[in-house]
Amino acid sequence: MSVQLTRGQAPAVAPGRAEPHVRKEFLPFAVPMLGEEEIAAVVECLRSGWLTTGPRAEAFELAFAGFLGCRHALAVTSCTAALHLALEAVGVRPGDEVITSPMTFTATGAVIEHLGARPVLVDCDAATLNLDPGLLEAHLTPRTRAIMPVHFAGHPCEMDRILAVARHHRVAVVEDAAHALPAAHHGRRIGTLGDVTCFSFYVTKTITTGEGGMATTDRDDLAERMRTMRLHGMTRDAWKRYRGDGSWAYDVLDAGFKYNLTDIAASIGIHQLHRCDAFHLRRQAIARRYTAAFAGLPGLAVPPPVAGGVHAWHLYVMRLEPGALTLDRDGFLHQLRVRNIGASVHFRPLHLLTHYRQRYGFVAGDLPNATAAAARVFSLPIYPRMTDQDVDDVIDAVLEIARGYRR
Ligand SMILES: *Cc1c(COP(=O)(O)O)cnc(C)c1O
Repeated sequence: MSVQLTRGQAPAVAPGRAEPHVRKEFLPFAVPMLGEEEIAAVVECLRSGWLTTGPRAEAFELAFAGFLGCRHALAVTSCTAALHLALEAVGVRPGDEVITSPMTFTATGAVIEHLGARPVLVDCDAATLNLDPGLLEAHLTPRTRAIMPVHFAGHPCEMDRILAVARHHRVAVVEDAAHALPAAHHGRRIGTLGDVTCFSFYVTKTITTGEGGMATTDRDDLAERMRTMRLHGMTRDAWKRYRGDGSWAYDVLDAGFKYNLTDIAASIGIHQLHRCDAFHLRRQAIARRYTAAFAGLPGLAVPPPVAGGVHAWHLYVMRLEPGALTLDRDGFLHQLRVRNIGASVHFRPLHLLTHYRQRYGFVAGDLPNATAAAARVFSLPIYPRMTDQDVDDVIDAVLEIARGYRR
């Protein structure tokens, strides 16, 4: 989290430029919205004596599947765990290739490598920063096992086109929907489209359980494989063995993982899910106010509208054209911080990170759209706990910087 700067620490004002208007208190980039219901549910869970995976995790899964309209939802410890289980279940094995987007968090690429497979990075669309479906065919090889689109910032990917390519070539689609709850593509919720969709309940995401994730699927075979592999490869859930009517007997079918979500976390998730649509309405309203205030500012671009879908607005990502102002993106972020506004960058694209550069030999000029975005993007705070005054402060700060550093 960013360091809090007070007026006294603000750098000297350039000649001819007005003193920056500084918010009294630092506005963090992200803060979760937890209420008395979540607190009471956790206390009740602790009092019940059942802390690990059990009835609350099962209730969370049922509610989540009902919310999206999918057959199966499996609660796990993180979106990273969900992605790992999903790729394993669709059959990704050593030597395989998985196509994904560079505009993502490293977890998306890491889980591919955990299975001994190779992440194949396809450039993103210059406007949406989502994987460009038009580039898929050129990157498919006989070793391609899956395509992993990432719904960047909550902007739904062009799933029709991605699914058509995947079906034609008989490869699986595992969606990284860490940003995409709730989002939709042509009237269908993200989480009901690909073979498996993976959600995150990390503390900055649109709903949270502290740490947690969910894998959704309509395929019974994939659900069964993920259910087994999420808990040691065992044939039945431990909590069923310890119920009064349970039997101690179990078998192990494979070397599984330990990815089950606790009932403590699930008890938070149940209440967060109840409020998911209300949170979303608030984020939509903030996004509308930002876009109304910033559209048409020279050198700054607002997020593009969604063509035939619903944006989850996990992130509000703006872009600063190089050379348009007398300061660059990092300078802009610094000026926001001077004004006590927390902001962030999503993401440093995978192909520019040391590990991926060294392992796969990316060079300057690779993935030009993602590379260009890397130097320009910044994310403004957008979360339901923000007051109208907080939103005004962000707007005032962005306008003041954009005007004060005009060429
Ligand atoms: C947050 C995030 C993840 C990882 O989620 P965890 O629940 O923290 O494992 C994966 N992909 C993207 C795009 C993310 O933003």
